[in-house]
Amino acid sequence: MDKNKPDDTHSHLTRRELLLATAGVAALHTAATASAADAATASATATTPPSTAAAASPSAVTGAPVAPAVVGPFSLPALPFADAALDPVISANTLGFHYGKHHRAYVDNLNKAVAGTPYADMALDKIIAATYGVADKSAVYNNASQHWNHSFYWRSLRPQGGGEPPAALRLKLETSFGSVDACRKELLTAATTEFGSGWAWLVQDGGRLAVVKTGNADSPASKGQRPLLTIDVWEHAYYLDYQNKRADYVAGVIGKLLNWGFAADNLGVA
Ligand code: MN
Repeated sequence: MDKNKPDDTHSHLTRRELLLATAGVAALHTAATASAADAATASATATTPPSTAAAASPSAVTGAPVAPAVVGPFSLPALPFADAALDPVISANTLGFHYGKHHRAYVDNLNKAVAGTPYADMALDKIIAATYGVADKSAVYNNASQHWNHSFYWRSLRPQGGGEPPAALRLKLETSFGSVDACRKELLTAATTEFGSGWAWLVQDGGRLAVVKTGNADSPASKGQRPLLTIDVWEHAYYLDYQNKRADYVAGVIGKLLNWGFAADNLGVA
């Protein structure tokens, strides 16, 4: 082993660097500029906010590019389960579009619509209440309510859901519907008979529980009912997996995904 070799190499490299430095100031400048440009490009690529990258993970399923989120007071909540966790009732492909594209668009459009308005400083439910039925505020209302509804919908589902409700909720369901199965049937009917786009809900209405349906972005909360669970029946919720067979999607959700524990939490009987 020649102990001097590393030093020789080092000094050789150093001399070479010195030669380059002295002989090519212009060349080095060019290199530095190119390097800065590369860095700028890399930086621009990396400016997609980390939260966006994380929240948009379902889009990785579809391979679709992810647009940066619009900066504003509202943000897409993280999904409470993995992209493929609801498969086969709701595929990762459907979830990728529904959450990563549709729900994201409601959030982005809401942020655009409230920019520079008093709504930018209001809580989501207050915005919905303030704009419900106000014709010239429909863009704010629709996007705000759809953001609320979708955030609630994701939590109304869970992998290995369905089955039997917690005991306290079951008692309430039996009192209002006669049986849990009668409640399931009402949900199925409401979800399949809502004409066009909308939602089916289990709600608390005064002293009883009820199943209701709403059109487009509407929520039963606007009528003083407390939402306990919801099922999205817009075509984008099921069309990739079921095409026109909405009833098959709804039956799958009720039987295998419904998060009865979430309803019990909302009712305060968990
Ligand atoms: Mn939807």
